[in-house]
Amino acid sequence: MSDPQRREFLVTAAAIATLATLTGAPPAMAGDPSFMNNVPDPSLSGKDLPTFKFALEKSEGKVIGNSSGKEATVTQLPISRGLAGVSMRLEPGAMRELHWHATAAEWAFVIEGRVRTTVIDPAGLAETNDFDPGDVWYFPRGHGHMLQCLGDKPCHFILIFDNGYFSEFGTFSITDWIGHIPKPLLAKNFGLPESAFDTFPREEVYFARGKPPPAEPSVPLQGWKLPPETHRYRLLAQPPHGVYQGGREWRVDSTRFPIAKTITGVVLDLDPGALRTLHWHPNADEWQYVIDGSVSVTLFGSHGRVRTEQLQQGDVGYIPQGYGHSIENVGSKTARILIGFNAGIYETIDLTQWIAANPADVLATNFGQPAELFAKFPQRDVFVTGRNGPGK
Ligand code: MN
Ligand code: MN
Repeated sequence: MSDPQRREFLVTAAAIATLATLTGAPPAMAGDPSFMNNVPDPSLSGKDLPTFKFALEKSEGKVIGNSSGKEATVTQLPISRGLAGVSMRLEPGAMRELHWHATAAEWAFVIEGRVRTTVIDPAGLAETNDFDPGDVWYFPRGHGHMLQCLGDKPCHFILIFDNGYFSEFGTFSITDWIGHIPKPLLAKNFGLPESAFDTFPREEVYFARGKPPPAEPSVPLQGWKLPPETHRYRLLAQPPHGVYQGGREWRVDSTRFPIAKTITGVVLDLDPGALRTLHWHPNADEWQYVIDGSVSVTLFGSHGRVRTEQLQQGDVGYIPQGYGHSIENVGSKTARILIGFNAGIYETIDLTQWIAANPADVLATNFGQPAELFAKFPQRDVFVTGRNGPGK
């Protein structure tokens, strides 16, 4: 082996050894979230921050008849490892067929039209709910469910999943399963002749189409057996969680919606020029969908890395856990943003509050400024400010 070759070999061997140490460590530490948080994310380790925007509504997605599903996963938006999302439209009479998600819980917000869902839990308890615009549902990971357009108008809703690797097109669908099981096995399983399954679909149906459902939900085959916790929360039917000079925020986490243990949701309205002030979330990644208007999002990721992107209606944004950010309405009308977090409890630390929580002498030393200057800073958490700033 020549010297340069030998050198390369040694470097490679050292790299493999380092990798082995790294990949060898997680099993012992599995389940320790503080450790998991320290695993370097290659997509965030570069000299510059990667893009955190994806034009979801401009993507093609999956279309059957007049129903469609468009998704944002790590495939479309590599930074979004913690959360995925789907924009789904169902035409009247269409149903997103019975299915479950092996690797994600599902949180949803209805934008338009009406939706009916039925979901089952491991105790065999099932709930059917009807949803109007502004309503939210949450289905725990692995629980079987279906979604149905209710009434004679199409519906549109946004689904948020607590796993960025989760694809809506890789769900476990009931027709996909039954269509691929040998007939004798099905006959034995259900106590029916094999011929009963002759005309069942052979492939995954995904969007089933039939008559619109009855106005009132029909009784399940087993009768009503309701679970103790509801899967529905009427988010926009509540008064806003916070009202500010430049906007309003509706928020729901597991303290108000107990079944939603892994996802928190927010609807944020920003008036023209208003700013959701600089902040970060200690406990969660953030997934954004612009329902209306256009906003400018600025992300801070240490080492002097700052990136600003403009999000228009139908665009998705993503903020990794712990990364600083702000959202500014740069349009001429009120902007509405749907936000999902992959934690059951909402946490934020805002820069205005952090500064207000420190004595003037600390701030004077930190910034090399006269202490008097800091009396002019807000002495509270501003959260959202109007176009002219917070004043004191
Ligand atoms: Mn689903
Ligand atoms: Mn945020």
